[in-house]
Amino acid sequence: MKLALYACCVGPALAFVARPPASSTSTGARATSTQLDARKPLIAGNWKENPCTVQEAEALASEVAEATKQAGDVGVVVIPPYPFLVPVQNAASGALMIGGQNCYFEEKGAYTGAVSTAMLSSVGCTYVLCGHSERRTVFRNDDNAINRKLRAVLDHNMMPILCIGESKEEYDAGLNKAVCAIQLSKDLKGVTGEEMKRIVVAYEPVWAIGTGLTATPEIAQSVHDYIRGYLAKMYSREVADEVIIQYGGSVTPDSVDALMAMPDIDGALVGGASLDGAKFGRIINYKKA
Ligand code: PEP
Repeated sequence: MKLALYACCVGPALAFVARPPASSTSTGARATSTQLDARKPLIAGNWKENPCTVQEAEALASEVAEATKQAGDVGVVVIPPYPFLVPVQNAASGALMIGGQNCYFEEKGAYTGAVSTAMLSSVGCTYVLCGHSERRTVFRNDDNAINRKLRAVLDHNMMPILCIGESKEEYDAGLNKAVCAIQLSKDLKGVTGEEMKRIVVAYEPVWAIGTGLTATPEIAQSVHDYIRGYLAKMYSREVADEVIIQYGGSVTPDSVDALMAMPDIDGALVGGASLDGAKFGRIINYKKA
C-alpha cells in the first residue's frame, strides 16, 4: 500500500503528523464572521494540456471572462498551458487572474524545458499550482521538490495553490487525513505564519480527479475541517482561519452549490469542467446557500 511505503520513508515524522486532528474547538475559538468574510471564495480552472491551439484558448478565456460579469464576490483564476498565458490574459481583458500549472525552483540556467517563477511573475501570474497530483505521479515530483517550488513562488510574491490528497487505496484504508497531514508537514517546511496566509490549499482526493467521482460535501467538509485544524496546530488559529481551502475532484455545475455551502470549503479547483465555458461559467456563478 502506498501510504505504508510513504510512512516507511517518513519514519518517525508520521507519528507526529498523523496525530488525531485538532478540532476547531480544541484549538481555539471558531472564526468570527469578519474572518470568514476575509476568505473570499476562489475558483480556479486548471486547463492541464488543453486546448490544442491559441485561438481556442482565447475563445475560452473570452467566454469565461464574460461569465465573471454576473458572478458575485468570487476570485476567478484560469490556469492555461504556458504558451497561452499572455494571449489568455489579453483575451480576458483583465477580468480574470492567471496562474501557472507548474514551475521550477531554479532561477535560470541550463535546465531545458524549465519555467521559473520569475518568468511566471513577469507575465502576470498571480497563482502557481504546486504539487498537483499529476505532477506528483506522472512527473515524480516529491515533497522536497514541491516545497522548493512553493518557496520560489512565495519569494516572487505570487500565491501557491498547494494540492494535497490521498489515493484510492489510502482512502479505502481510512488514511485520507493522515496523508494530508504528511503532505502539509513536508510541503510547508520553513513557511512562516505570515507566508501561510498567502497559500491556498487545494484538497484533491486523487480518486476524484478526472474520474467523475466527487467526494460528498460532508466528506470533503470533514477533511477541510481537519486541514484547517492541522494548520491551526502548525501555526495558529488566526492563521488557519485566513487560509483559503479549495476542493478539487470532478466539480461540475451539479455538485458545486452543495460543496460551496460547506463552512470550510472556500472555493474549487476545477479540471475537466473548466474547459467548457458554459459549465465553468455556471460553476463560478454557484448558488449561495
Ligand atoms: C484537477 O485537475 O485539479 C481536477 C480537479 O480535475 P477534474 O475537475 O477534472 O477532476
